[in-house]
Amino acid sequence: LTRFPPPVPRSEAAAAHGPAFTGLALDRAEQQRKDPVWARERRVDPSSRAVIASQDRVLLGAGEGTELARRPLPGEVAEAVLLGLEADGRALFALDRDAVVGTALDVGEDEVRLVSLRDAGARLSRSEGGLAAYAFALLNWHRRNQFCANCGAHTEIAEAGYTRHCPRCQATHFPRLDPVVIMLVEHAGRVLLGRHVGWPTGRYSALAGFVSPGESIEAAVVREVFEESGITARDPTFVASQPWPFPSSLMLGFHANADGGDPVARDGELADVRWFDFAEVSAARAERSNTLQLPPSIAIARFLIERWVAGREAEG
Ligand SMILES: [Zn+2]
Repeated sequence: LTRFPPPVPRSEAAAAHGPAFTGLALDRAEQQRKDPVWARERRVDPSSRAVIASQDRVLLGAGEGTELARRPLPGEVAEAVLLGLEADGRALFALDRDAVVGTALDVGEDEVRLVSLRDAGARLSRSEGGLAAYAFALLNWHRRNQFCANCGAHTEIAEAGYTRHCPRCQATHFPRLDPVVIMLVEHAGRVLLGRHVGWPTGRYSALAGFVSPGESIEAAVVREVFEESGITARDPTFVASQPWPFPSSLMLGFHANADGGDPVARDGELADVRWFDFAEVSAARAERSNTLQLPPSIAIARFLIERWVAGREAEG
């Protein structure tokens, strides 16, 4: 079995540009894709190519595996989702791995190059990581929206993959995103981190939760922190966002302050929640801690923690 080399650690400079999955460099062809003639031409253009992803894995290219595989587009595949145009002008599509079984694009013995999106995010370049997240998000949405939510009829792909159309009730369905707030809460030089039920001992991350209907994202930050820890957060400040297509989340990263207090895990989601000081977080970053394991580099939680550490170091 071929094994890829371990992912290359991100440089400080690259990390400064934003969380993983945020580097997409592709022209989405928002206007052109509305023209069915143009879209059909891209579909049969011999220079067009496709990336391939299953429900939980994406196909990497040959060699180091730092790029997604790009395959010629076969004529016999029913639903090809147009991602957009690459810098060289060639159209790039996304194909469901299940849809190419038995075709010229069957992954076959390249099975070992199918890796999870988390693994791909840790090893791909920023632009390729962004591309992987984008392809995943669209393919996941198409898989889950084969039938009209309004009338139950079978829906059809439209706008070369940006929408689905219902031929019975004429509804247009747009790809959905589920907003999730994730926040690093700070008090007196310490940050509030929680350990989910089922996580290994020592693994902690920033608190997070879905935004509820009728709620601002700032209110969601305060509510989630209180529900999960009993701590009252204030002054939530937006920091950065991240596509998180597991299957359709958009992570909204915040920093918030608190007046302190003893956190208590109380909504059943967390096994433990506590304050960690700068020395504990620094030791964990250097992998010299027996009590704290930080989230992986692809997680926006890690980005928020690294940003907090850099701010503390800059203050001296
Ligand atoms: Zn319908």
